[in-house]
Order: sequence, then C-alpha cells, then structure tokens
Amino acid sequence: MNFLPVFLNIHDRNCVVAGGGEVAARKIAMLLRAGARVTVIAPQLCPELQEQLDEQSQEGKLVYRAETFHDDHLADAVLAIAATDDFAVNRRVSEAAHRQRIPVNVVDNPALCSFIMPSIVDRTPVVVAVSSGGTSPVLARLLRARLETMIPAAYGRLAAYAGEFRGRVKHRFSQPEKRRRFWERVLQGSFAEMVFAGKDQAAKAWLERELENETEEPTKGEVGEVYLVGAGPGDPELLTFRAMRLMQQADVVVYDRLVSPEILDRVRRDTPRIYAGKERNRHTMPQESINDLLVRLAREGKRVLRLKGGDPFIFGRGGEEIETLSGYGIPFEVVPGITAANGAASYAGIPLTHRDYAQSCIFVTGHLKDGSVDLDWPMLARPKQTIVVYMGLLGLAVLCKQLVAHGLPATTPAAIVQQGTTRKQRVLAGTLETLPDLTAAAHLVPPTLVIVGEVVKLHRKLAWFQPEGNLPGDTE
Ligand code: SAH
Repeated sequence: MNFLPVFLNIHDRNCVVAGGGEVAARKIAMLLRAGARVTVIAPQLCPELQEQLDEQSQEGKLVYRAETFHDDHLADAVLAIAATDDFAVNRRVSEAAHRQRIPVNVVDNPALCSFIMPSIVDRTPVVVAVSSGGTSPVLARLLRARLETMIPAAYGRLAAYAGEFRGRVKHRFSQPEKRRRFWERVLQGSFAEMVFAGKDQAAKAWLERELENETEEPTKGEVGEVYLVGAGPGDPELLTFRAMRLMQQADVVVYDRLVSPEILDRVRRDTPRIYAGKERNRHTMPQESINDLLVRLAREGKRVLRLKGGDPFIFGRGGEEIETLSGYGIPFEVVPGITAANGAASYAGIPLTHRDYAQSCIFVTGHLKDGSVDLDWPMLARPKQTIVVYMGLLGLAVLCKQLVAHGLPATTPAAIVQQGTTRKQRVLAGTLETLPDLTAAAHLVPPTLVIVGEVVKLHRKLAWFQPEGNLPGDTE
C-alpha cells in the first residue's frame, strides 16, 4: 500500500487553501462539507469562489485573504491544499507545510503531496473513498462511477437508522456473534428495502418488532412482498438502478411476454422464473390468475419480483395487480420503467413534443374489438398533437382511416416502430395514407408501436440508432 487510508476529523478546524480558481473552489467545497473552517489565499477569486464566499462569509466558515502565500498563513492550520497554477507557489506551500508537519496536498503533483485526495461516493454518514495511489485519477473516477450505481441513494439514511438503534441492539444481543447476524439480516433484508423505498416509518416499526421478538431468527410465517417493476422497452441499459437492485434480491420472478431475454439474464442466476405471458401455446402459467399467483407467493414469505415490459402503470394492468395485493394486506412497491412510447420514440429519433409541431401527446391503446377500434376520434384528430398507439398493429388500417375521416390530413406523417430500442428495431415511416400498405408489405414482428403526428417527419433527420433490423427504404 502506498498510502494509509484514513478519514480525518476537520470539524471547526482551520484548513488553508492557496489558489482562487475552479480547482480550488472544488477542494474548498469538499472541506466545507466536512465541517472545516477554510482560509483561502489568492490574489483574486474566480466567480464560483466569490459566490461561495458570499454565501459562507456570514457564518465565518470561509475567510478570504487577497495576499500571496507566506509561511505564517499556516500558523493554526491542520491541513493545507495548494491549487494555484503557479508551480513555484505550490512548491512553497508544500515546503512550508512539510516544515510545520501539516498534511499537504498539491493538486496534480503527487511528489509534493503528503496526502492525496480520493474519489468519493458520498452517502453520508457512509463514505466510500477510492484511490489509485496517485497513478491514475481517471481510473479511480471510473471505479467510483461504478460504485455510485451500486450503492442506493438512501444508504445514508440506512446507516443513520442503524446508528440510532445501535445501542439498543447491543443491549438486546450481548453476544457479538448474534449481534452481527442480526445486523446482517436487517441491513440486507426487508428493513433496508423499506428504507430504500422511502417507507421509513414502516421500517422503524419493523425493527422495533424484530428487537422485541425473542429469537434471532426471522419471524416465522411472515408475509413476503411484491415488487412491481417496469423493465423498460427492451434495451437492458434502460433499466433503472432500483429495478437492477430488486432483480438481484428477489426470491422468485414472475415475468411477462414483453420482458426481453437480455433483461431476464440480469435477474440473479438462481432465482426461479415463472412465465405469466398470455400466449395460448404456452402452458407455463398455472390455472390461477396472475393476481392470485402473486398473493400466494407473497404469503409463502417470498420477495416476488413482478417484472413487466415498459412501465407497469401504462397499459400494463399493474394497477389491478396491486389492488389485489392491497386487498390482502400484502406489502408492495412499484418501480416505474421507461414506457414503449418514450423508448421507441427516442431510439427512432421522433421527439414526442416539439415547439413547432406538437404541444401535446396522447397515449392510447388501439386494441381491436369486434373488428373495430373504440376511441374518441374527434379528440385524437386534433392538430398539433402527437398520438402514440399501443397494441395498434392489427387495427392500423382502421386507425388511419378514422383519423382522416375525423379531419386529419391524409398526408399527416405516421410511423410504426417494431421492437423499439432492441437490435431488431425497425422503423417504417410514411403518412396516414401510406402506412397501412407499407406495414402490410413489411412482415413486422411484434411488439410494435404506432406514432402519428408532424413530429414523425423529424425521424429522417434525428434517427441515430442503427440496429441490424433497420432496412434501407423503410422510410418513404
Ligand atoms: N406497459 C408497457 C405496455 C404494455 S402494452 C409499456 O409501458 O411499454 C403492450 C404494447 O406495448 C405492445 O403491443 C406494443 O404496442 C407496445 N410495446 C411494448 N414494448 C415495445 C417495444 N419495444 N417496441 C414497440 N412497441 C412496444
């Protein structure tokens, strides 16, 4: 190890920063976050620092001296940072600090440093520090970015609660081994999940109950819970952090037809999977309805991941599923996903609203019922509006005809997007008049999404995603 990792208490202690530029501003912000008093020494300050000074000067946390650095500036300092762009000044700061045995950091000059500053993930009171030992700050930053995605934002709150209960847990479990097991269970299980989901009161009540409970084992017969999670339109990169985390910790996953294999791959390996699609030729789903299945699994004490395509609350019947759960008093949480309209439109280069072309955007389902589509046509056929039709492939001809019959010009741009956001994405663009024939000739593979409105003509200019599915000539 080239450096000793430590966390330094600089609360209310004086730290000296030489330099008035943006780098100095960043270091100063960090010192202030850790509760220090900071003296900044520089002939002049950049606007960012001047602003910081105006904000902080009231409390006397930040003091400015428009001077050039000299040794006396370090008189009562516990830490020094040199962040000027003048090598000679930086060296003087370093030498003075070394003489006075004060830890010193010189920006971008490891040789002059007695300490270096790590990249951090801040979930105060939890702080993760990453250092490459001065060899590659970029590498440390990249690693930090990965940790950032792995540690939920609410980790700080989790730690704060653990701190609050620490004394009582210690009192309750006198043996360190039992105490450790208790905390391991609490910090990885329902308690943590409740905190991450913002159910703080319920989390604390749960911890209270666990503490009163005589055994160290989980309460028997405890109900599980259901995570209703939107998996997005197909590209796994569009999963949310929360979805990813729940995919790692569920005991069983119940998934839809629309959930892509690439996404299912990201569920923890040994998690049992139950297919709840609706295709007639597959019998994986038992007789009971999906709602009942979720209830049964949760009652067995399982953490059930109900994974749905897109967003669970947009044409996903997510509302109905959790209504049943709520009726049975089973805890659940809902994680939004990127809905097909957002995903397909972005990847096809079709902005759903645009100052010049569309001030509103409507999502409808174009489900065929007895050969017709039951929609509020006058409302849909308004100018300066984008219409996104889910489940619109079979009813496409009816849809286009009705929109024209209710006043939209037959030349209104319209597109159909096959398997949006995936490697098989294909976009056919035409008009209300031409799209049905274009589509009929193209043998599209579901799922597909229809987008109607002036914004569609931007597709040719703004398309950026070029997967293998796209064929030349798809756009008229
Ligand atoms: N809850 C989902 C929608 C479920 S309804 C969501 O928010 O996206 C199913 C319909 O969504 C499909 O018939 C199709 O119209 C649309 N859809 C879902 N994923 C799609 C994709 N990757 N590309 C195009 N359309 C998609």
